[in-house]
Amino acid sequence: MPSATSTTSALVDLKGLLPEQLRALAIDLGEPAYRGDQLFTWIQQQGECSLAAMTNLPKRFREGLMAAGASVSHLQLLERRDSATGMAVKFLFEAEAGQIESVLIVDGDRRTACLSSQVGCALDCKFCATGRMGFKRNLGAGQIVDQLLQLHAAAAEHGDRVTNIVMMGMGEPLLNYDEVTQALRIIRHGDGPTAGPAVGGRRITISTAGYLPGILRLTEDDLNVGLAISLNATTDAIRERLMPINRKWPIADLLRAARGYFERKGRRVTFEYVLMDGVTDSDEDATRLAVLTRSLPCKINIIPYNELGASPGVEAVAFEDFRRPPKSRIEAFVRRLRESTGHTVTLRESRGSDIGAACGQLYRQQETRTREQPASVGVAG
Ligand code: SAH
Repeated sequence: MPSATSTTSALVDLKGLLPEQLRALAIDLGEPAYRGDQLFTWIQQQGECSLAAMTNLPKRFREGLMAAGASVSHLQLLERRDSATGMAVKFLFEAEAGQIESVLIVDGDRRTACLSSQVGCALDCKFCATGRMGFKRNLGAGQIVDQLLQLHAAAAEHGDRVTNIVMMGMGEPLLNYDEVTQALRIIRHGDGPTAGPAVGGRRITISTAGYLPGILRLTEDDLNVGLAISLNATTDAIRERLMPINRKWPIADLLRAARGYFERKGRRVTFEYVLMDGVTDSDEDATRLAVLTRSLPCKINIIPYNELGASPGVEAVAFEDFRRPPKSRIEAFVRRLRESTGHTVTLRESRGSDIGAACGQLYRQQETRTREQPASVGVAG
């Protein structure tokens, strides 16, 4: 668990602290412990970012916090776009050293917040827009929580609340392990009927490109969340070409780790599989994927590739040669997989492609508008 001072700036971000850490801070400042709980309520449930506005806290406590360099982070919203379909809302935030995006996805009764963990990403997956940016920096726990608070406030405009969280925005969450797990612990806290966006561990999923040390660490962690692994290929030769991380931790390692996660946590891992025309969508791929996962309790989520030129009226930007397969091929792949495995196989529909909220789209729009800064925004959700 990160200490109170482990955020990237010199300031203590109170939004990134658990109730027990806030209680310890209160005691340090000569206040009773319950002042820490009051702070937590103000920040996480009332969404208050100004210490001055927390009027039921003694002035000397608030001044003591400020003198100690404490503040409450709040990401500046640069742009919000609501999909005409009402199925997605995309948020573009300013974070130090770049911008990040988060997406609120509407699906039946579900309101899923897709959150970013890093500004940019170091893993260089060839099909992913974020990979082009390179790595800029890790987000602090408070900045991850803040994305959720802002999305939650947007959901509340319609009388809704966020019900699910996926760490599938920008970045590799397991390469920012401490801050991501700290954020999820804060979010899980007080799971129940509170005014805040508390979401239970069963409705939280961390998605990884396959950073094995992180998967093993999460397996041993007492934080109980869902795990998704972006498999995206059925042979190491193809996967290496798409995802350089495969050279270090190939498919067999990931399958073994997924089994370990299931055995330890009792939760089936989800394999994400992006369908790219002529690259990952053959009948042989479907058969191999079935064989690879046959004896493994898991779920499979098929994601048709989102092309950068996919939304109408927006100039396309060349991005490697990846294409979304035709609909018939996507359906055939899913059918074959369903027929040959007992797994739950889901097909992820892209919501909000009209606002550039689907995987890989935001980057293109940013690049089209400001070509002199081509790598400023990416999305991988
Ligand atoms: N780094 C993590 C989380 C971010 S990516 C991971 O790799 O899992 C979230 C998902 O989006 C991954 O499964 C990734 O393979 C997928 N993805 C990235 N770019 C995409 C694109 N252009 N179209 C469809 N899916 C994409």
